[in-house]
This record gives sequence, C-alpha cells and structure tokens, in this order.
Amino acid sequence: MNLLLEECRLADVKIQNRSTIKKIEKESSFTVTTDSETYATESLVIATGGLSMPTIGASGFGYEVAEQFGLKVLSRQPGLVPLTFSRDDLDDFSDLSGISADAEVSCNGQSFREAILFTHRGLSGPAILQISNYWQPGNEIVINLLPDIDLTETIKQWQEERPKMELKNLIGELLTRRRCSSVVGTVVPQQAC
Ligand SMILES: Cc1cc2nc3c(=O)[nH]c(=O)nc-3n(C[C@H](O)[C@H](O)[C@H](O)COP(=O)(O)OP(=O)(O)OC[C@H]3O[C@@H](n4cnc5c(N)ncnc54)[C@H](O)[C@@H]3O)c2cc1C
Repeated sequence: MNLLLEECRLADVKIQNRSTIKKIEKESSFTVTTDSETYATESLVIATGGLSMPTIGASGFGYEVAEQFGLKVLSRQPGLVPLTFSRDDLDDFSDLSGISADAEVSCNGQSFREAILFTHRGLSGPAILQISNYWQPGNEIVINLLPDIDLTETIKQWQEERPKMELKNLIGELLTRRRCSSVVGTVVPQQAC
C-alpha cells in the first residue's frame, strides 16, 4: 500500500476519497460528474469493481457505463462462493458445522474432487467454491462422501459377512474410517474467492 501511495505521489496523482461518480458523458472528451465536482479528461480508466459485496462499496456502475457506451455485457452471477442451506437443511446439518471431508461434488455435468466444509450457514471448501460456478438456482448438487467406494457392492458384501449389523452402523464405520477432521476456528467468508 505504501509503495502504491509513494508511486502516486511521485506521479502527482490526486486521490479523491469519499466521492461517488454519478455520471460519465463523452463528446470530444469525457466528463465525469461526482456528487461534488465535475472533471474533464481525454482518457478514463474505470475500476469500480464487481457486484460481489455491496457493503464494501462494490457496485454495478462499471457495467452500467459499459452498456452506456454500447459494449456487450454478459449476464452476471456469483462465482467461487460458498452455498447457504435452506432453513430446514440448516436444522438438519448445523451439528456438522466445522467438519471437513474429502468428497466428489457434481452439478450440471461438472465434478470436483476436493474438500468440503460444513459451516454454520451451509457448505464451503474448495469443491463447493468450484462447483458454485456451475450451479443455477433450482439445480441439484450431488455430494458423494464415499467417492472411492461402490456403495451397493460394499453393502452386499457386508450383508454376507455381517448380516446382523445395521446399515447406519455400517455406513458410520466407513465414514469415520475416512479422515473426516474437525476444523477448529476456521473462518469462512460467505463471498470468499
Ligand atoms: C470477502 C472477499 C475475499 C476475497 N479474497 C480474495 C483473496 O484472498 N485473494 C484475491 O486475489 N482476491 C480476493 N477477493 C477478490 C478481490 O477483492 C477483488 O478481485 C479485487 O478487489 C477487485 O479489485 P477491483 O479494483 O477491480 O475492485 P474493488 O477492489 O472492488 O474496488 C472498486 C472500488 O470502486 C469504488 N466504487 C464503486 N462504484 C463507485 C462509484 N460510482 N463512484 C466511485 N467509486 C466507486 C468502490 O467503493 C471500491 O473502492 C476477495 C473478495 C471478497 C469480497
């Protein structure tokens, strides 16, 4: 940060904080209107960020300006983000908050084999962040917590070897045998990238 500020000082850059750009117009040069001043300039670089987190100032202003000047703007949707559970799912899964597991996560023909993490709001971890790029509202996401095992075959084998054992105990044995680890003190930003 200091390096950037020093470079700006050497180039005689004027930094104007707490100033919102309201309007950009172009005739022979650009006219930039903020909430307090108007600037005229030959060239203009717009770096107003994306839509990800409005609370830290991100806005759709850059897209609006692009459209204003006739540039084609593709539709936007969140990407590389955690998923939040519905109220009912949250009740079912809240006890798992802090648990991570290796899993295969699939949606719309795309799969990722990496860690998932149960959080106090939903699901995160590398596999979830990646699959969020392929998810559209209403789509199903399949999470295979036993990706290395043919579960049907394994159950059949168990039935032969240990016919009296309950299914929940058999599956519990398999899941705990894998390295599900409890993650203590992990912070998961809901808009992480
Ligand atoms: C929670 C979170 C975690 C992240 N973690 C990482 C990470 O670990 N690593 C990584 O590489 N990236 C990370 N990112 C992404 C990274 O922050 C962004 O890619 C990067 O900040 C984009 O830079 P930018 O300059 O394009 O926009 P921004 O940093 O968003 O800056 C845009 C600026 O424009 C201002 N602005 C908007 N509209 C107007 C207007 N009309 N008038 C005047 N000013 C305006 C905004 O106030 C803001 O100051 C993270 C993002 C989030 C939200």
